[in-house]
Amino acid sequence: VDESDMTLIKMHEYLTDLYHHVLMHTNEGEEALKYLTDRGFSADIIKKEKIGITPNMRDFTKNALLNQNFSMESAYQAGLVSRNEENFSYYDRFVSRIMIPIKNHQNYIVGYTARSLDGSEPKYLNTPETPVFQKRELLFNLSDARKFIRKQDEIILMEGHLDVIKVKMTDVQNIVGLMGTALSGENINLIKRLASNVTLMFDSDNAGRKAATSVGETLLFEGLNVFIIQLPEGEDPDEYIEKHGREKFEQLVQKQKRHFVHFQADHLLDESMENDLSYTQNLNKLINYLKYVPGNTLKERIITHISDSYKVSKEHILSSIPSQTENVN
Ligand code: ATP
Ligand code: MN
Ligand code: MN
Ligand code: MN
Repeated sequence: VDESDMTLIKMHEYLTDLYHHVLMHTNEGEEALKYLTDRGFSADIIKKEKIGITPNMRDFTKNALLNQNFSMESAYQAGLVSRNEENFSYYDRFVSRIMIPIKNHQNYIVGYTARSLDGSEPKYLNTPETPVFQKRELLFNLSDARKFIRKQDEIILMEGHLDVIKVKMTDVQNIVGLMGTALSGENINLIKRLASNVTLMFDSDNAGRKAATSVGETLLFEGLNVFIIQLPEGEDPDEYIEKHGREKFEQLVQKQKRHFVHFQADHLLDESMENDLSYTQNLNKLINYLKYVPGNTLKERIITHISDSYKVSKEHILSSIPSQTENVN
């Protein structure tokens, strides 16, 4: 980390403590603290994650940084203030938002994801790309989760940052959040170095299923073992925990993990049965996926499942699987 990067990081470290103080100990933070408490976030987790609030004030961040002798040029570079290009004045980027700090993999705070409190759009406003905040390099919570991921040889991916924070209140700790819906090449290489098993726990809505399909396929083709934890329709991990409790969630993570190909077989079945064209395309897709499932008990189990649900013989499936020579796993 060079000196100018360190300046950007120091601004974040300073502001994070300040925003957290405003949330916990001032009138400006009262509404947000109640909001977080009502959503089931404990004082402990709010402290641990250093969640904060930018008050509904003009230039709160700008003035706080100027008082600490930081320059507005650096603040702009850090994505903390925006610039009016007509008169070159600076103004706060984040106003009246819950500030969730994002740490890089070395455990330095380098940016924020900031949720609006009053339903104003956008719901989440993030730090823009900066020298220290490059989304393709980051996975939310990795610096805390790394040792659990290594120990369990499994990484659980989620969509939402508040999902990750809520799950940190349970026994499940090997969790990271995506910085968007797509995985970067950097994310993939990092995941491959950390674990051989990846579990996707995305929102149970159309957007989440779509993301699980594309992320899961990418990871499968990279030679990883990919599993899916499916939540009840419409729920995300945070909502699941609020609705069903922490123990149920821990059981779900322990007991309900379907291999990606098994999940896709079920997911694609509905549209396949009355449509011979889809049936052929989907079955071929599944057979192609099987190439990336290591030849073991699990593969046998998935083949049996596809054979039963798609009403096709196991021999046909087995003889149709493309050559395995490319499979590096
Ligand atoms: P909440 O529970 O606070 O409503 P969520 O995490 O469930 O938030 P979703 O609408 O499910 O939010 O979106 C999933 C993730 O996608 C968010 O956590 C956030 O990272 C990202 N996201 C959602 N809306 C936006 C937005 N307007 N701009 C940028 N990122 C967004
Ligand atoms: Mn969603
Ligand atoms: Mn949510
Ligand atoms: Mn969600």
